Amino acid sequence: METQIIRMDEEHIDQDAVYSAGQILQRGGLVAFPTETVYGLGGDALNPDSSRKIYEAKGRPSDNPLIVHICRFEDIFKVASEVPEAAYKLAEAFWPGPLTMILKKADIVPQETTGGLATVAVRFPSHKVALALIDAAGGFVAAPSANRSKRPSPTLAKYVEEDMDGRIEMIIDGGEVGIGLESTIVDLTGVEPIILRPGFITREMLHQVLGSVDIDKTILDGACKLPPKAPGMRYKHYAPKGELTIMEGCPELVVEAINRRCAAAKADGARVGVIATDETCHLYVADSVKSVGPRQDEEAVGRSLFRILREFDDEEMEYIYSESFGESGFGQAIMNRLLKAAGHRVEQIDKEE
Ligand code: AMP
Ligand code: MG
Repeated sequence: METQIIRMDEEHIDQDAVYSAGQILQRGGLVAFPTETVYGLGGDALNPDSSRKIYEAKGRPSDNPLIVHICRFEDIFKVASEVPEAAYKLAEAFWPGPLTMILKKADIVPQETTGGLATVAVRFPSHKVALALIDAAGGFVAAPSANRSKRPSPTLAKYVEEDMDGRIEMIIDGGEVGIGLESTIVDLTGVEPIILRPGFITREMLHQVLGSVDIDKTILDGACKLPPKAPGMRYKHYAPKGELTIMEGCPELVVEAINRRCAAAKADGARVGVIATDETCHLYVADSVKSVGPRQDEEAVGRSLFRILREFDDEEMEYIYSESFGESGFGQAIMNRLLKAAGHRVEQIDKEE
């Protein structure tokens, strides 16, 4: 299959191209598109064949459910059989935006889209290209991130092309995404709202609106033996080809420890990369040192993380060492993805070695 690539940004929506993309989706084909979080791989959410094709294109296990994207709040009533008070409050505060709600599913949503679950994940994104496409597709677009399974989610269309060229009908290139990490997922089907995946909408922000909100224990504790509540969090994810280790401790000691690891790897003839910040990147000696941005600028860190992981793959790094980041606010989402990418490999540097 030849994959057509079309460029358009939020300020210049090409209506004809959006119409053709919508037609592809209505006919059961797949189109990758930009959202404010990461690129999505879209199919008609109400068509079981489209969902099957998404799993196939991603190489994703079919028990890992997809998120249904809508472009009007009212459409939530078509895909969810119950809409609790909390959903209205969250929609009012954060939709359109990077928040996904888990609700009881309506019969119209096929099991293929929800990975066999009786619940459905619903999101109303804010990206104008995404909204135009969802509308043109008939209102319901199932879209997981547009990467092949296990790879970092794509923040640029060139990464979608790398993973999906020849597998899908079209890629809409809308430039670099704004947030760079996937949406926050909140489950509203239980007694208490519970965060299944941290994201740009932080626990503190949810708490302000809902009064109380829990967080899935497996997110806070990497060693937790319970299965995560969001099926996708069970799977190996984001892992770069090289072995990634997070180094935690006082900044000076971390720099020294990383440099020692880099020197040892080099002595063995291995290629080593470092994930650093603007403040520290000049302090490292490695084959490749990349800054995620200023340490205090969490938005910059979130936006660059997945791109840097992919760049290290392109550069064939065998070992990667990363500084650690604070876990409050958006930092919780950043550390969640970094820890998953590292397979929870963390070294604590408490004193000079
Ligand atoms: P992705 O956008 O690629 O990260 O994929 C969507 C993710 O949303 C899945 O991997 C699941 O972890 C999560 N998800 C989707 N539907 C549900 C659901 N009904 N219940 C819990 N988690 C869900
Ligand atoms: Mg994903």
